[in-house]
Amino acid sequence: MALLEVTDVTRRFGGITAVDRCSFAIREGSLTGLIGPNGAGKTTMFNLIAGALRPDSGEIRLEGRRLDRLRPHRIARLGLSRTFQLTRELADLTVLENVVVHAPVRVIDLLRPSIGDAERARAMELLTLVGLAAMADAPAGGLSYGQKKLLELAAALMPAPRLLLLDEPAAGVNPALLDAIVGYIERVHRSGVTFLIVEHNMDLVMSLCDPIIVMAHGTVLAQGPRDAIQRDRRVLDAYLGAA
Ligand code: ATP
Repeated sequence: MALLEVTDVTRRFGGITAVDRCSFAIREGSLTGLIGPNGAGKTTMFNLIAGALRPDSGEIRLEGRRLDRLRPHRIARLGLSRTFQLTRELADLTVLENVVVHAPVRVIDLLRPSIGDAERARAMELLTLVGLAAMADAPAGGLSYGQKKLLELAAALMPAPRLLLLDEPAAGVNPALLDAIVGYIERVHRSGVTFLIVEHNMDLVMSLCDPIIVMAHGTVLAQGPRDAIQRDRRVLDAYLGAA
């Protein structure tokens, strides 16, 4: 069953059509890759799904419910979370606080004088999952680049999303950390979270993601099982053409 459905979505910036009549579906429980050469429209598509941008036309639905007219925080509350290409930690807060601030706010929380123990415990669990528990009380601004990527993953998991959009989780990450990140993604995936991952590292995409959606020049060039995508001549041409 499709968890997310993107139907005939278009988004222009002035004279540029960044996303041009794109349609695809994300199957519940899948680890779907979204690839394509620079400027293909992948980040714009992420921003459209997460509500940071609105489509000029078309529809985006999560479990049949229209997302494309909702604000990002409403979409987040429906179970969709994301990371960013450039990490966005709050440098003066601790690592733990950076995760806790992503807890969904309920009206009842506004009546409480301090952050609840349950939120702290869950944030600690997530920091443990990504190997950052020992840094919980350190200021987030002091983390290394790779550690900030891990923090971002933990923070994105705090609202317990059903669908997690990862924007270039491997960018600028050393091979040892990359292996660790792959392990964390697989573990979270096994716990029932559906993933949509934008990534330029083809080794990572081809080992982790199936199915794969390929965008080029704002359109969906190909989509399907990883094996078929790897053999698809149009996909190869799109990358060679962009090189
Ligand atoms: P990359 O892999 O390099 O991150 P991408 O596939 O994510 O690329 P987008 O960032 O979505 O591609 O960009 C798609 C097109 O839309 C590009 O031509 C880009 O210049 C243009 N674009 C994106 N955002 C804006 C904006 N805010 N204003 C104007 N043009 C934009």
